[in-house]
Amino acid sequence: MAERLRWLGAALLAFAAPAASAEPETPPLRIVILGSGTPVPSRTQAGTAILVQAGADNLLFDCGRGCTTRLAQYDPALLPRIDRLFLTHLHSDHVVGIPDLWLNGWTQGRAESLRVWGPKGSGAMMAGLRKAFAADIGYRRADGIPASDVGIAPAVTTVRGDGVIYRKGDLSVTAFAVEHGDIPAFGYRIDRGDVSVLISGDTAATPQLARYGRGVDVALIEVASPPMTAYVRRSFSAAQAQKILALHLGAEDAGDALADMKPGLALYYHSVAGEAADAALLAATRTRYGGRVAVGRDLMAIAVYPGRVVVDPPD
Ligand SMILES: [Zn+2]
Repeated sequence: MAERLRWLGAALLAFAAPAASAEPETPPLRIVILGSGTPVPSRTQAGTAILVQAGADNLLFDCGRGCTTRLAQYDPALLPRIDRLFLTHLHSDHVVGIPDLWLNGWTQGRAESLRVWGPKGSGAMMAGLRKAFAADIGYRRADGIPASDVGIAPAVTTVRGDGVIYRKGDLSVTAFAVEHGDIPAFGYRIDRGDVSVLISGDTAATPQLARYGRGVDVALIEVASPPMTAYVRRSFSAAQAQKILALHLGAEDAGDALADMKPGLALYYHSVAGEAADAALLAATRTRYGGRVAVGRDLMAIAVYPGRVVVDPPD
């Protein structure tokens, strides 16, 4: 509650600041890191999931472990209102929360289809989930609770290459292919009016980040921090570790990408967070990049105004 009040205070101050202008300020584009974690279960980090709110529009990017729990922590009324889901790729740590989002959102009142955009295989995955949960769906439909079947029918759009995949008014989502081994994988750029956000998805170093992310207000960048890299080396054979690490940005790779992109604010996700881990990650980044960068945490909220980014808790 204290944090909420602090956030509210910061937001009110932010609204109060440009009082000289007669034009009411457009509400910010809001980003909430629901899950900042990795495939490894954690007490403090849910699996990858990032919420972008543009007024009443809620766009969810990936739906990893614990996504619905974090949604409830952020706003208990939000679950049935999430009906647009963008998947970066189909590794399980990015999609394992979908059944709960999809089914529970329906039983709690989502009257619309869950619309899903994702790479090749997304349609088969959603059809497979429908089969896997056929018993539950059948019980609920027989009971007529919820009354409408519409919310249980997912509508999947396969993302096949770079380009705008979603547009509503001045809000748009652009997909761009990234490098994640041999699997189809995308990053996403969100634009609304004068503000822009890039979500890297899981990727090795690729010029696509600078191509799509140069000068964005906020860049959410996946990274394998030094402690995460050490964990992978400890836990897998040398050949396996090399293969895994080649799928991701190391701290120096991320620093190089940020030096090319020069975002207003960079936030890392998809790595092990903690005081020592964050310090090691940021120290390694600083050897390549001197701009504003922080390590994302679960439930960190970012308000993006034209030319101004406010983070709660502060970066
Ligand atoms: Zn992945």
